[in-house]
Amino acid sequence: MAFSSDNSFSRPTCAQIDLAALRHNLRRCRELVSGTGIRLLAVVKANAYGHGAVPIAQELARFGVDCFGISLVEEGVELRQAGIQGDIVVLGGAWSDDDEIVANALTPLVFSRDQLVRLDAAAARAGSVVRVHLKLDTGMSRIGITLAELPDFLTALSAARRVHVEGLASHLANSECLEHPQNAEQLALFRQARAVLKAAGHDPRWCHIANSGALLQLGEARDGADFNLVRPGIMLYGEAPSLELSEVSGLRAVLSWRTSITHLKTIEEGQPVSYGGRWTAPRRSRIATLPVGYADGYNRRFGNVAEVLIRGQRAPVVGTVCMDMCMVDVTRIDGVSLRDEAVLLGCQGEQEITARELAERIGTISYEILTSVGARVPRVVVDSDESQTPRSRDE
Ligand SMILES: *Cc1c(COP(=O)(O)O)cnc(C)c1O
Repeated sequence: MAFSSDNSFSRPTCAQIDLAALRHNLRRCRELVSGTGIRLLAVVKANAYGHGAVPIAQELARFGVDCFGISLVEEGVELRQAGIQGDIVVLGGAWSDDDEIVANALTPLVFSRDQLVRLDAAAARAGSVVRVHLKLDTGMSRIGITLAELPDFLTALSAARRVHVEGLASHLANSECLEHPQNAEQLALFRQARAVLKAAGHDPRWCHIANSGALLQLGEARDGADFNLVRPGIMLYGEAPSLELSEVSGLRAVLSWRTSITHLKTIEEGQPVSYGGRWTAPRRSRIATLPVGYADGYNRRFGNVAEVLIRGQRAPVVGTVCMDMCMVDVTRIDGVSLRDEAVLLGCQGEQEITARELAERIGTISYEILTSVGARVPRVVVDSDESQTPRSRDE
């Protein structure tokens, strides 16, 4: 895919979002639950893991996804304003935006009596109802009602007449690790809680606990019987939740982060590069400057650690990454010239730099790499399989 030059931003740094890769990953998610009738909730929180929530949700909706997961009420409002219909589940829980929730027909996860009271009141003010999923804490110790708290919660629920329980949800702490004993414990607690709900006359339509890790490998968490909805996030964006799973997942990266060389120079042996002289040329060297830095989310710890792709080859990032720029050593790459494309994340020629690779270089996870791509980096939506794009009239 060539770097597109017809964009309105002046700096040649952008994140390309490939809708064909997104559709490919959606197909992979669906294959894993095919024939089970399981519903897919596409997690598009945190600006769709940095990819751009609106174009991602619109493309998924165009291919039949009718349920989305976000963290914040304002993320749900953004999707509604962009015309997204269907269910939008507020996975992060909501604290004070009850009227917004009701007005935008969002589906919050609830796990406190206080939320029930406030949502019930908001629904009454609007003359409507609010649909919710109950959030259970089965072992994350983050948000959610515990089994012990459930009876009290159900008492409060019966008083909240405008609150309709449509789902029961929990979250796994170790889904990427198949053998972890906590998985079985969490599933068992979920089933117990569901039995308590049933005995109290509640039979939530959607029961769910599976994120990408569980969707990929934990069949019990997506059996179509106890669990009839799955919530993949990272998979949709083309990364597996763990190294072992990345080998089997067959996913394609959706985001590629591209820029081009804005300055090129030869420096002599012994010449230091960038702040603090943390890299010194071991020989006469060709140094390329790239217009991207830590203010764009290109982590400062990538200095002397990460590589970029130029002319299909790997060039090491040398010296400290600056706020708006970084330098790479292109001495070993023939024919490098000004304005050559540099790929920070993604494919070029035969080479690929994955979010996982960057994550491992600085001791984090691919989720953090993707969600760190800064707001200052324009997202450019492309489609590497144009046959799937509705043709515009003048074509
Ligand atoms: C983020 C999130 C997911 C998606 O997790 P992935 O590992 O990205 O698939 C699912 N459920 C909840 C509650 C989440 O917060």
